Amino acid sequence: MRILITGAAGFLGSHLCDRLLADRHAVIGMDNFITGSPDNLAHLMGNPDFAFYRHDVSNYIFIPGRVDAVLHFASPASPNPASPFSFSNLPIPTMKAGALGTHNCLGVCHARGARFLLASTSEIYGDPLEHPQKETYWGHTDPVGPRSMYDEAKRFAEALTMAYHRFHGVDTRIVRIFNTYGARMRLDDGRVVPNFLQQALRGEPLTVYGDGSQTRSFCYVDDLVEGIVRLLESDYHEPVNIGNPVETTIREFAETINRIVGNQAGIVFKSEHRLGDDPQRRQPDIGRAQSILKWEPKVSLEEGLARTIPYFKQKMGLA
Ligand code: NAD
Ligand code: UDP
Repeated sequence: MRILITGAAGFLGSHLCDRLLADRHAVIGMDNFITGSPDNLAHLMGNPDFAFYRHDVSNYIFIPGRVDAVLHFASPASPNPASPFSFSNLPIPTMKAGALGTHNCLGVCHARGARFLLASTSEIYGDPLEHPQKETYWGHTDPVGPRSMYDEAKRFAEALTMAYHRFHGVDTRIVRIFNTYGARMRLDDGRVVPNFLQQALRGEPLTVYGDGSQTRSFCYVDDLVEGIVRLLESDYHEPVNIGNPVETTIREFAETINRIVGNQAGIVFKSEHRLGDDPQRRQPDIGRAQSILKWEPKVSLEEGLARTIPYFKQKMGLA
């Protein structure tokens, strides 16, 4: 296939480029570098099967030649207001990437008869009242809360995707991605993995927001990419959760990182940094991915962190 990946210069987009090129597809990357970096794609420049367009997906998209599939990953993705690269500090670009960007990508697919895959998120469940979260759960979101620019953009994007599928017959997929980590995460986007790894590698205490009792479930990037490729190759149109169901409190997560890195500085609690609508519990029910895609994650947290740390050391000038 000839596949357009939006958000290609970001963390997940760049790994998808690598995987789909390795699977012998031709890949067109698109990005405006608002949160991503050309460094993540530098190794692909000169590859005859890879082309790149610097473009904002909120504007009309034209790709010359054939397009068989569009994977829409362009969006700021960190909630942390301390970072200028978070969706909290890029509220309007975030809503435009989720709304106008999704519309433009679906327009390309409708015109070209191409398949569409939307990168949605566990955030569409909000601060969930059902646990673990199944795809049938409708969510618990605040349409005007501090994370609403992201949650509502993604909820709109899902609705638009289903509208194009049901009304225009576009061949669509929706992946609901749960917290994922690995190499090429932006060091300064404020998400918990880059923050904790850098603090631990510098020998500083890890900043736990709130009392650290909130939970997340962390998926290694290679596992996530495998799930996305299987979904793309399936003919399933309803949303599918892809994530690692091993749930940990943020406090336990900090202790695990300190142990693996050998950091003796411990943790500090920063209650003032916790966002008002920071979900208290998050864990995917992956029953649908297991039965339809025959997928489940293979990489443990310890193994995934061990594979991720060299990237952080290199970026921090410690390697
Ligand atoms: P990222 O910030 O590393 O990558 C996003 C990329 O999109 C960046 O390269 C950015 O420059 C680009 N982009 C943003 N707006 C754009 C626009 N208008 N036009 C063109 N390019 C634009 O983040 P990520 O973690 O790789 O996330 C990728 C996608 O996956 C996002 O849609 C995000 O919502 C979704 N997601 C990620 C996670 C996760 O844990 N990483 C979890 C749930 C959902
Ligand atoms: N968090 C933390 N310390 C940090 C950064 C984040 O305790 O330095 C917490 C944050 O409050 C949230 C969890 O870690 O409860 C995951 O945050 P992240 O920004 O990675 O993504 P989220 O899952 O909230 O979208």
